[in-house]
Amino acid sequence: MKALILGKGVSGRGAARLLDSLGFSYQFYQDGDGVPDVSLFDFSVKSPGFSINHKILRLLREKNIPTLGEIELAFRFSRGKTVSVTGTNGKSTTTALIHTTLKTNGKRTFIGGNFGTPFSEFALKTTLETVSVIELSSFQIEDLKSYRSDISVVLNITPDHMNRYRDFQEYTETKLKLLNHSDIVVLNRDDPQLKSLRGDNIIFFSRKERADTYVDSEKVVVNLNKKTEIPLSELPLKGVHNLENYMAAATVLNLLGLTEDQIIRGFKAFKGLPHRTEFVETIKRVRFINDSKSTNPDSLRKALESFEKVILIAGGSNKGLDFGKLRELFKERVKGAVFIGETAELLSETFKGLSTILRANSMEEAVKKAFELSEPGDTVLLSPGCASFDMFKNFEERGEAFKKAVLKLKRELEEKVED
Ligand code: ADP
Repeated sequence: MKALILGKGVSGRGAARLLDSLGFSYQFYQDGDGVPDVSLFDFSVKSPGFSINHKILRLLREKNIPTLGEIELAFRFSRGKTVSVTGTNGKSTTTALIHTTLKTNGKRTFIGGNFGTPFSEFALKTTLETVSVIELSSFQIEDLKSYRSDISVVLNITPDHMNRYRDFQEYTETKLKLLNHSDIVVLNRDDPQLKSLRGDNIIFFSRKERADTYVDSEKVVVNLNKKTEIPLSELPLKGVHNLENYMAAATVLNLLGLTEDQIIRGFKAFKGLPHRTEFVETIKRVRFINDSKSTNPDSLRKALESFEKVILIAGGSNKGLDFGKLRELFKERVKGAVFIGETAELLSETFKGLSTILRANSMEEAVKKAFELSEPGDTVLLSPGCASFDMFKNFEERGEAFKKAVLKLKRELEEKVED
């Protein structure tokens, strides 16, 4: 058997390692390569970055050569239970929360997919006792065929990736395709796209009303066969968005049979992921928060809802997203803003007249200007609301640039005091 692997990134290389272990041969194809004779291959493996409209996929279809997504391929060689997590925001945090809690309690578990390691890298290591916790992006969901998840979570669906999908409806429909591949589905009832979905296999969580999982008297209550109650005071990560992630994770863990004590122990062990509303430093009573992973309007909204008296650093590459709905919140929370990157002009226009607005050409300049705008007690918040590719390799590099600039500023100010 010979496979054509589309894409030589993390997923493509993961698929190659799985095919190696299975004794299959393969060849890589990526944009810029000469188009191979596709009839030489028995099947192809698609990385999520390849759109289904890509010319090579059309050629493969014409020759009736089957194409599997990398996740689909891995699933076919895995054993045990699969938990899948999707949503516009919160996927990585919730996936890691579920995995850490299982691991803390001695369960056999792997984490991967859109987060960290590709599923293909560990599929062959799974056993009947394993729980594979898989983060799925909408691009990965597009390619599912016989994939079956024991429990799936959809956290929220808000506008993103408008450069890949025709419109918001098409993006929503892609995310919801996961429901057809799941035995049990855990959904956020506070999300307008999800609240009216019905089905015997649907379990809802809600921050705002009574659902299967809800908040009551300062506790998260999972009201399934076995009741679980978790005091909010036991939850280390703050912000309403993290409360939603905790509710989704607690529901999944309850369904997997963990006890209340086991869930609380796991939640306490999870310290959050870097670049998601991550505390960096305090300089002269000004707090610096790195939320570089914020790449769309809703993650920016959640960050603004989590802090007051904000000096915001935002902007990045343009995905055709609209920030207009954030004007009121911006007016309420943002004392000053420094915009960077491709969307700096768009953001300056959108929020014009609501607070002091500056522009910067580098992260270092943005941090300096933000600090100049701040007063003791304020929070300088990097929450770009946009992807990073205009100025950085990825969101990690952007977050590291922010942290470095903050530490440099701190050092410079200390040196000044000593002079
Ligand atoms: P994803 O993997 O979906 O991108 P992350 O957990 O990496 O999600 O978080 C991405 C961004 O979204 C961060 O800015 C984070 O603070 C924010 N966020 C995390 N959870 C949620 C949520 N449930 N709803 C909205 N925003 C969230």
